[in-house]
Amino acid sequence: MRKHIVAGNWKMNKTFEEAEELIDNLMTTLENTELAPDTLMVVCPPFPYLEMCSEYSEDSYFLPGAQNVSDQESGAYTGEVSAAMLQSLEIAYCIVGHSERRAYYGETDATVAAKVDRLLAHDIHPIVCCGEVLQEREDGRQLEVVERQIREGLFHLSAEQITEVVVAYEPVWAIGTGKTATPAQAQEIHAYIRSLLAKQYGAEMADKISILYGGSCKPSNAREIFAQPDVDGGLIGGAALNAEDFMAIAKAF
Ligand code: PEP
Repeated sequence: MRKHIVAGNWKMNKTFEEAEELIDNLMTTLENTELAPDTLMVVCPPFPYLEMCSEYSEDSYFLPGAQNVSDQESGAYTGEVSAAMLQSLEIAYCIVGHSERRAYYGETDATVAAKVDRLLAHDIHPIVCCGEVLQEREDGRQLEVVERQIREGLFHLSAEQITEVVVAYEPVWAIGTGKTATPAQAQEIHAYIRSLLAKQYGAEMADKISILYGGSCKPSNAREIFAQPDVDGGLIGGAALNAEDFMAIAKAF
């Protein structure tokens, strides 16, 4: 019933030519690959490549996504990119509240909530990231941290709106470190997130929401992680920069 989603977060990597080459490779690999019918692929390149990505996606089996969006609607916000702009490029998904944005750019749960509102007003699915840092896990506070991020970032939404949202659980200690959460650790938090959503919106609604895992996911560990009942896909960083690896992860369902 839930969509399986594999989303690639390119972060601040690739020149335009390299980006075109990666998308080209991805399209070729996709043409020669059979994915499970309910698997959706999302490609999130840097802003300058979104138009190109969106155009290419028309002839392929992936959807374009952005890595960030402004929490403001429009106006004098130098350097920002609005949800309306993304919508005008037919961007389908947008990552919000990635731990790097929280850590380096001061993004708070309130900013996340505002960005989610902007996106939903423009028919773009937010991919809302949550997850604890290493110290919080060592202190046994992972559930408390994730609960706060989910509550503050999402619980102002209506039941109708929440089903448009994708959640990504990304333990910060696993992002770009090569350290992956064990399948059991991922399942524990994913089930917890679903239980929070069920408490707020009812079990039927919670069952419709895709919850992705992110953090050093690669072809060698994706199958085991995706086999967990509450893991509905992955948000992929490093491994999304290589078409074969990204595709191998998408095939892990
Ligand atoms: C990410 O940044 O969302 C991520 C999961 O990165 P990586 O796969 O490189 O750990």
